[in-house]
Amino acid sequence: MKIAIAGAGIGGLTAALSLHAAGFSNIKLFEAAREIQQVGVGINLPPHAVRELVELGLGDGLAAIGLPTAELCYYDRSGELIWAEARGTTAGYRWPQYSVHRGRLQHLLLAAVRERLGSSAVTSGQRVEACTADEDAVSLTVTDLASETRTVHRANLLIGSDGIRSAVRTALYGSPVPLATNGWVMYRGATPAASMRFLSGRSMVIVGDEAQRVVAYPIDESTINWLMVRPLPTAGDAGTPLGNWNHEVDAQDIARHVQEWRFDWLDFHALVRSTKTVYEYPMADIDPLGQWSFGRITLLGDAAHAMYPFGSNGASQAIIDARVLAYQLAHHAADPVVALAAYDAARRESVAKVQLANRRQAGDVMARVSALARARAHGQARDELKTVEDNYKRLAGFDIETLNNRPSWSVQPTAAST
Ligand SMILES: Cc1cc2nc3c(=O)[nH]c(=O)nc-3n(C[C@H](O)[C@H](O)[C@H](O)COP(=O)(O)OP(=O)(O)OC[C@H]3O[C@@H](n4cnc5c(N)ncnc54)[C@H](O)[C@@H]3O)c2cc1C
Repeated sequence: MKIAIAGAGIGGLTAALSLHAAGFSNIKLFEAAREIQQVGVGINLPPHAVRELVELGLGDGLAAIGLPTAELCYYDRSGELIWAEARGTTAGYRWPQYSVHRGRLQHLLLAAVRERLGSSAVTSGQRVEACTADEDAVSLTVTDLASETRTVHRANLLIGSDGIRSAVRTALYGSPVPLATNGWVMYRGATPAASMRFLSGRSMVIVGDEAQRVVAYPIDESTINWLMVRPLPTAGDAGTPLGNWNHEVDAQDIARHVQEWRFDWLDFHALVRSTKTVYEYPMADIDPLGQWSFGRITLLGDAAHAMYPFGSNGASQAIIDARVLAYQLAHHAADPVVALAAYDAARRESVAKVQLANRRQAGDVMARVSALARARAHGQARDELKTVEDNYKRLAGFDIETLNNRPSWSVQPTAAST
């Protein structure tokens, strides 16, 4: 079976590795970026995503590039602790939670794809423009960005993992699916700051309220990743188009928002001010889609379910999509249309709940918790946060009991799958 993948981000690369592990070898990835550089800043991979990468044989590689997160702590804007809980193996999971640079993770996956599927499996500078399918095959139109030439490729199926502005999704839906925003903006940076090691040295902290919050965690022994989220005075003011991850802004300008946020355990102002490159990202997601799989074409990762980057689940859900898709294809190798429909049925509605939960976390949860903290009801705020976190883990698939005990999605390769 010939499989085409649009986009070699975290979702597309994990899909290639998962399909290969399930016995498929004729896989071609088309990536629009001319060069796959180590872009982005830090992301967090909770144990449900780490389990999948470990089962793909990437445990050692991940341990080499990531830092195990030991706890998650919530503070109010005055720096007073509301609630903390253990994370990863410290909490009793069989797999760690990792904080890791997004670009390093992408390169780990890329190197594994090239090693396992061959150096020509991923071609860069290849932008997928359009796709159509008939009963037997898929046709995808791809522009080579260097020569500006267009080629039509044929495959037995196509996976659209081409991110938040997916061209495959546009082709399937007939027009671009609008991106939604809550009018907030996120600033992100990763700062070499060995001297600013804070709390356990493996802590992830969330500080603030509904007017502004800051998240920080180390992604290696000498780098602290941070992000700041605040509403724009007027929705759409950021000037950065929705879905653009690469827009740089002035660190000094952003640091003034945390002028007062200098706690004895971490000086956020100094952290932000000393960051070389700060990125601005207006919060963007899509409404849950009514369909991911259309015959021989399906969507995966942000193309299927772009969500607000709250709760460490953007990359995680893409990784899980990839594993479930490979599982379903291995079990229905004779009929890819049935396999893609089974993948849609297994994933779409459960991920929609995570998308909607991220919207709530971004808004009303923060407002409720902060109102309690302002009223000095820190105990109630703690209970509220614990309930929200416990529910979220169940929705996203990482409550300890379920994750530690559920069967693996690894499958034995069969002759039918190649
Ligand atoms: C440059 C960049 C920086 C990011 N930085 C962060 C970050 O700092 N923090 C965070 O939480 N999330 C970040 N993300 C998003 C995060 O990686 C995703 O939410 C998550 O990993 C889901 O992965 P995905 O593979 O579905 O999408 P993505 O990781 O977005 O990957 C999609 C891939 O498809 C490619 N592509 C897009 N259009 C086409 C096309 N028409 N044809 C072929 N290829 C195409 C893109 O170049 C990209 O490589 C970033 C994404 C990108 C692209």
